[in-house]
Amino acid sequence: MTELKIAVFDGDGIGPEIMAPTVALLRKLSARASEYSLTFETLAAGAGHYAKTGDALPKASVAAARAADAILLSAMGLPDVRYADGTEITPQIDLRFEMDLYAGVRPVRIAPGYPSPLGAPGDVDFVLIRESTEGLFHTKGKGTVTEDYATETLKLTRATSEKLCRFAFALARQRRDSGRGPGRVTCVDKANVFRAFAWFREIFDAEAAHHPDLGADHAYVDAMALWMVQKPAAFDVLVTENMFGDILSDLGAGLMGGLGLAPSADIGDANAVFQPCHGTAPDIAGKGIANPMAMILSAAMMLDWLAVERDLPALAADGTRLREAVERVLQSKEVLTGDLGGSATTQQVAEAVGAAL
Ligand code: ATP
Repeated sequence: MTELKIAVFDGDGIGPEIMAPTVALLRKLSARASEYSLTFETLAAGAGHYAKTGDALPKASVAAARAADAILLSAMGLPDVRYADGTEITPQIDLRFEMDLYAGVRPVRIAPGYPSPLGAPGDVDFVLIRESTEGLFHTKGKGTVTEDYATETLKLTRATSEKLCRFAFALARQRRDSGRGPGRVTCVDKANVFRAFAWFREIFDAEAAHHPDLGADHAYVDAMALWMVQKPAAFDVLVTENMFGDILSDLGAGLMGGLGLAPSADIGDANAVFQPCHGTAPDIAGKGIANPMAMILSAAMMLDWLAVERDLPALAADGTRLREAVERVLQSKEVLTGDLGGSATTQQVAEAVGAAL
């Protein structure tokens, strides 16, 4: 029996409302599993915690999260709680830098039941990997602004680019071996205009050469925006720079039918954080009507990741069951929250997912 400790950040706004039923579903899976067991430790952080204590991300929470086997994080931040300089409180972004979580994993899936604005464009199941610690975010908060001009600097490093490309090919191999993709990585860049991206492409090609059994190709980011709409079923794993990935991942969430369905992971060499793509939805917080699906799908990604890390196929099987349970609820259309056109509560959706499990 492998014991796994999960660090839990409840977050702000709808954060705790979607985290509680997600942890309950994970406890249910864990109780039935014979190969693994999950324990949970709730850690303090977020805008609410900052308002109370003046500290948005306590050092003790970071240390406990580092020591955990995986980190489950709900949305954080509140519109009216800010630092003295007026900037937003975003411990989820601070954690990315603190733990060097360079690979932002953003799955894009459209299966029957997903309310995609594209209708039914075939079996869409690809993963966008967004570099998350450098690129155009290199000068985040430190850009130069004068009366006459403003600059930000894009920086790519060899070390992170190589790790990122290695990660992308490893994911493509896992997906191929588990029957979820053909095993192909597409480098998304702007190598026709910027030398930095031509350099990144060379690093990508060098990594591709180590994987003759996997496919590798390139696309310009502007063309990719078009193709994600026109032929989303054509892709497997995409790897790209931070800002390009920031934009394309929201396009991906839109293609799936909304933020309430978009899970994500931020993965580094030693730690991984799993969280929904959406924010704290202050407009509906406290009403018990938030859609918990993105949070639950993020938990399913966590089980998939732990399965590979711990070489425990039972975890991957439960990750798949959890995702398929959500998809069955989506497909039946009977128990959906307001963002998906229904009138169910968070709790009712979570119970329907539990029943589908
Ligand atoms: P952030 O900048 O923190 O990402 P945001 O203001 O861009 O936040 P959200 O907090 O994600 O965006 O909210 C955008 C809209 O989507 C809001 O109207 C919100 O109610 C809705 N929304 C977001 N997440 C959910 C959810 N899980 N269930 C239902 N509605 C949601």
